[in-house]
Amino acid sequence: MKIFSDFDLKGKKVIMRVDFNVPLNANLEVNDDSRLRAALPSIKLLIEKGASLILMSHLGRPKNGPENKFSLRHIVKPLSDLLKQEVQFIDDCIGEKVQKKADKLQAGEILLLENLRFYPEEKAGDKAFAKQLAALAGFYVNDAFGTAHRAHASTSVIAQFFAGKKAAGLLMAREVKEANRIMNHPVKPFTVILGGAKVSDKIPVIDNLMKLADHILIGGGMAYTFIAAKGGKIGKSICEPEQYNLCLQLLEKADRLGVNIHLPVDSIIADQFDENAKISNAEIDQIPENYLGLDIGAKSAKMFRDVILSSNTVLWNGPMGVFEMKAFSGGTRVIAFAIAEATGNGCFSLVGGGDSVAAVNQMHLSGDISFVSTGGGAMLEFLEGKTLPGLLAIEN
Ligand code: AMP
Repeated sequence: MKIFSDFDLKGKKVIMRVDFNVPLNANLEVNDDSRLRAALPSIKLLIEKGASLILMSHLGRPKNGPENKFSLRHIVKPLSDLLKQEVQFIDDCIGEKVQKKADKLQAGEILLLENLRFYPEEKAGDKAFAKQLAALAGFYVNDAFGTAHRAHASTSVIAQFFAGKKAAGLLMAREVKEANRIMNHPVKPFTVILGGAKVSDKIPVIDNLMKLADHILIGGGMAYTFIAAKGGKIGKSICEPEQYNLCLQLLEKADRLGVNIHLPVDSIIADQFDENAKISNAEIDQIPENYLGLDIGAKSAKMFRDVILSSNTVLWNGPMGVFEMKAFSGGTRVIAFAIAEATGNGCFSLVGGGDSVAAVNQMHLSGDISFVSTGGGAMLEFLEGKTLPGLLAIEN
C-alpha cells in the first residue's frame, strides 16, 4: 500500500478524507475526540512536508441538506487546539466559493470543508460531485479507515481523478497493518471474542475467522440465538430465529475444524430492559419466560477470562451485555480487564467496533490494549475477508 509519506508533497495541495464523525453533546461540543486525535499524525506530517491541506469528512447522518447540528464548524476549535494551529473553515464543500478558497491556500495552511453528507451525492458515489472535490487539489489521501467500507464519492470515486497522485494516510496504513497481523499470522493460541446485539451482523466474521481461531467466545445479545437454536430456554432475550440454522451450521463447522466455540453458561437476567428492573441470575438455557438476559453471568465471565489469559492473540468486537447500564456492564468489564492483563503479559490485542471501543475508553484501558481500531463496520468487513472500496481505490 502506498503511503503519502513516500511522495514529495512540498508545495502541493493535498485533499485528505478523514473520519471526523465524532459524537457531539447537546451543546454541540465534541464528546469524545478520539477520531480527531487519530487523524493528527497524518495532518501534522503533511504540514511538516510543506503541503497545503484540505480536510473533508462526514458527520452524522443529515437527511435534508445543511443542518447546524451536523456542521463540521463545531470541530474547528477542538481540532485547532489539538494541532496548536489555526484551521480555516468554509461552509460548503464544492462550488466556486470553495474552489477560490482552496486556490488561495498557502503551504502549511489547513482548510476544513463543510460536511460532505449535506449533499446526497456523497453517499450516492456521484461522479460529478467527486470531480468537483477532486478539482480542489493535486493529490488525494484517504485516512478515513472508519468509512473505507463505503464506496462514497469522497472515499472511493474521487480516487479515479488522481492517477499516480493518491495514497493512504498514516492511520489507514496502521489500521490495515494491525488487522493484517491478525488475518495473516496470528500467534497462537488465537481467541476471537464477539458480542453485541445481533448475531446476523457477526456470522460472516465468525465464519471467516474460523479458519484462523483456536477459540471463539460468544457473548452479548447474539449468544441467545445460539442457545435457543440448541433448544435452550431464553425467555424474552433478544433473538433472531431466522438465524438458527446458520448458528447450528457454524457450531458443526467449528467441531469439524477443531475450533472451540464457547457460549456463556449463565446470564444476568432482568424482568425489563431497565437498570431498575428485578435482576437475577440464571443458567443460560433456563431463563424464565418473563425474563431477558442482559449480561453474561459470573461463571461465564470467569470461563472467558481464563481463555483470554491463555491466548497470545486476542480480537474483540462487541460488548458482552448491555454495558451502557451499570447493572449489566460486569461481563464486559471482566473481558476488557482480562484483555488488558493478557496484553501486559505479551499477548497482541486488537479491539474494534464502536461499542467495545467505547467500553474500553469508559474503563480507561485504551492504553493497555495493543491496538484500538477507529473502524467498527470497516474493521468487521475487513475481518470478513471483504475488499474495502476505500482501500481498493487508492491501490488501483
Ligand atoms: P453491536 O452494535 O451489534 O456491536 O451491538 C452493541 C449493542 O449491543 C450495545 O448497545 C449493547 O447494549 C447491545 N447488547 C449487548 N448485549 C445485549 C443483550 N443481551 N440484549 C440486548 N442488547 C444487548
